[in-house]
Amino acid sequence: MNALAATNRNFRQAARILGLDSKIERSLLIPFREIKVECTIPKDDGSLVSYVGFRVQHDNSRGPMKGGIRYHPEVDPDEVNALAQLMTWKTAVVDIPYGGAKGGIGCVPKDLSTSELERLTRVFTQKIHDLIGVNTDVPAPDMGTNSQTMAWILDEYSKFHGHSPAVVTGKPVDLGGSLGRDAATGRGVVYATEALLAEHGKSIKDLTFAIQGFGNVGSWAAKLIHEKGGKVVAVSDITGAVKNPKGIDILALLQHKEETGRLSDFSGADAMNSNELLTHECDVLIPCALGGVLNRENAGDVRAKFIIEAANHPTDPEADEILSKKGVTILPDIYANAGGVTVSYFEWVQNIQGFMWDEEKVNRELKKYMTKAFHNIKGLCKSHNCNLRMGAFTLGVNRVARATSLRGWEA
Ligand code: GLU
Repeated sequence: MNALAATNRNFRQAARILGLDSKIERSLLIPFREIKVECTIPKDDGSLVSYVGFRVQHDNSRGPMKGGIRYHPEVDPDEVNALAQLMTWKTAVVDIPYGGAKGGIGCVPKDLSTSELERLTRVFTQKIHDLIGVNTDVPAPDMGTNSQTMAWILDEYSKFHGHSPAVVTGKPVDLGGSLGRDAATGRGVVYATEALLAEHGKSIKDLTFAIQGFGNVGSWAAKLIHEKGGKVVAVSDITGAVKNPKGIDILALLQHKEETGRLSDFSGADAMNSNELLTHECDVLIPCALGGVLNRENAGDVRAKFIIEAANHPTDPEADEILSKKGVTILPDIYANAGGVTVSYFEWVQNIQGFMWDEEKVNRELKKYMTKAFHNIKGLCKSHNCNLRMGAFTLGVNRVARATSLRGWEA
């Protein structure tokens, strides 16, 4: 089942639990707007190359649409649609005044030079600048993009509309980015994990963790878990995987990766097969990379008791069913990885107010939002007698449905 079919299925199940009016259900399934643009750039050697860029704006009933732009070879319209819809529920789950959107360009960013990436980003911005904006749609980084990408979008957008720092979030701090934004998704994952474990009378320092993905989200989550005394026993990324049952020194691993560009040959851990990461012996499994990694093939072999979905849509519906039968507790993506967009909201607020917060305030507010959302989700799990995924979906969908019907449909 592809990401869009799976997301629609979760949405429909939530709509059924909520007894949602069928008109509202249908209107929430159809995206507000889908944009597809051709982006042709000259390569450094003078040859021309064309890419396809997407921006799907899913819903704006609760506020400006919000979500990342990814550069990845697997970007396709269905996936971007699914991820845009997930952003709508995600912003509603943590109760920030946004709708949902997502964008992407199908490309292999590591095969492009910095100047090629800059040209591609500027051409994409030229094609969509009239459709994004501080109060309409606010992009942010995602897989394959970063604060530099946001700086180029800000610069290109500002040529058409004047200096507008709040048009993107996840910017460099020197251009109005928020302190703490870079770590925010990983930090949010850790706050979410703490909230879940507390319910089970456990804490990070008593448990072992396996982390798939060592990019922005995975490396920050690993670092913060390590700092809190949790034992990270396995880590993988696209370059390989390492394990150490006694716990990996994450700071040393980060340094090794920075120096060599890969995880393998790290002296503080043994090499392992990347495919085994998801089924490695651990208490808590944190997928922080691609969608659909937990599926019918491997779900039965998962040994973790808790799965924290730091990636978007890492568990497909078949795996969801298998894991729930095994008694594995899954903290769903639309809550677990919402720390990034939450601090994006703080960045946007700071830009609009023209006032910068210190990092301590950013982290304190992030913890407040993540903890409150967890208790809201638990409340719905109790009243609807459902799992955490449906608790989060019913929370998000209900907030969006209420906003939609309050706004009405009169043309
Ligand atoms: N790309 C991140 C996400 O999927 C952050 C989006 C944002 O900050 O707007 O949640």
